[in-house]
Amino acid sequence: MKLIAVTALTFSLFAPAFAQTNQTGSSSNPAGAQAPGSQSIKIMRSGSQSSRQGAAENFSGTVRVDPLFEATAPGRARGSLVTFDPGARTAWHTHPLGQILIVTAGVGRIQRWGDPVDEIRKGDVVWIPPGQKHWHGAATNSSMAHIAIVETLDGQSVEWMEKVNDSQYGDPVRAEASATNTSPASPRPSRRAIGDFSPKLAELTDNVLYADVWERPELSKRDRSLVTVAALIAMNRPEQLRSHLARARENGVTQDELIETITHLAFYSGWPNAVTAVGVAKEVFEKK
Ligand code: MN
Repeated sequence: MKLIAVTALTFSLFAPAFAQTNQTGSSSNPAGAQAPGSQSIKIMRSGSQSSRQGAAENFSGTVRVDPLFEATAPGRARGSLVTFDPGARTAWHTHPLGQILIVTAGVGRIQRWGDPVDEIRKGDVVWIPPGQKHWHGAATNSSMAHIAIVETLDGQSVEWMEKVNDSQYGDPVRAEASATNTSPASPRPSRRAIGDFSPKLAELTDNVLYADVWERPELSKRDRSLVTVAALIAMNRPEQLRSHLARARENGVTQDELIETITHLAFYSGWPNAVTAVGVAKEVFEKK
């Protein structure tokens, strides 16, 4: 509810600009029913809309909400960028006309009432059907950001419910293969890369290394990534380092931290290894 109140305030900040645009249309047209072509393109400049904390009654943990756009009649869609610190999440809620989430950074979780938790990652696009009780947020050891797009119905785009307690948040994460039940399963990278040629190695990589070892809670994903990247630098394995540098960033290691790791390892694993690693890192980071 508070979110709606707050975004209504945001809308009022834009009202003068919209009113000005309206004046250029025919005065006989009611607002929102202008002749096609009478409205000009509006650019909301980066940084021009102030971000705020997610309301404490609707979110657990630290959540930042950056408004992106408000519904402009006759359109109903409005969007915002929401950033969750590790462990942070929404309360349970529904959307009258559903919601689309586009994950823009990190690793997160989403759950529909009665279903297991699904893991979501940067690049994933999620559709939440109308009226389905659900929550979304970050993973325990990684932040997560998504663009959330909803359509308003009678001025409403969300109905907030109770908080997601720690036990619900800690529900087991469903295996990725069965989570994609509404779309063709997307094979894990190792299956795509070597599955046809070496199915057993792909299976061990997916089921033992990533589904078991990488999921063990004794080390965070971030720490596992740092250890793995350090080993690959020390062994001078640029091919594996390439994918693990990208994975490390998804798991919350920053670009600066990875560059510092390479600098540090020059002294322990040798100058040539560090120079090779810097070359790979430069290629990976510039591609993003
Ligand atoms: Mn939602």
